[in-house]
Amino acid sequence: MTCREFIDFLEAYRSRELPAPQAVEFERHMGLCPSCVSYLRSYEETIRLGRKALCDPEGPVPQDAPEELIRAILAARKKAQ
Ligand SMILES: [Zn+2]
Repeated sequence: MTCREFIDFLEAYRSRELPAPQAVEFERHMGLCPSCVSYLRSYEETIRLGRKALCDPEGPVPQDAPEELIRAILAARKKAQ
């Protein structure tokens, strides 16, 4: 699995929609590639912060949030509707 594939599979892996063979490859990649592990961590942190922002859907998106996080929050809100 390449880093590109890892990132593509990230969402499916987290929602446990990844078929078993790919999930095994995904986990193996995590063992081999520290940069993808840290990507996964920051991704989960983004989701966590995004959830917090989602608690108040009418509330302002935090001004100091990175661009990427703001996009994630807005995308998650869209999905939740
Ligand atoms: Zn990687």
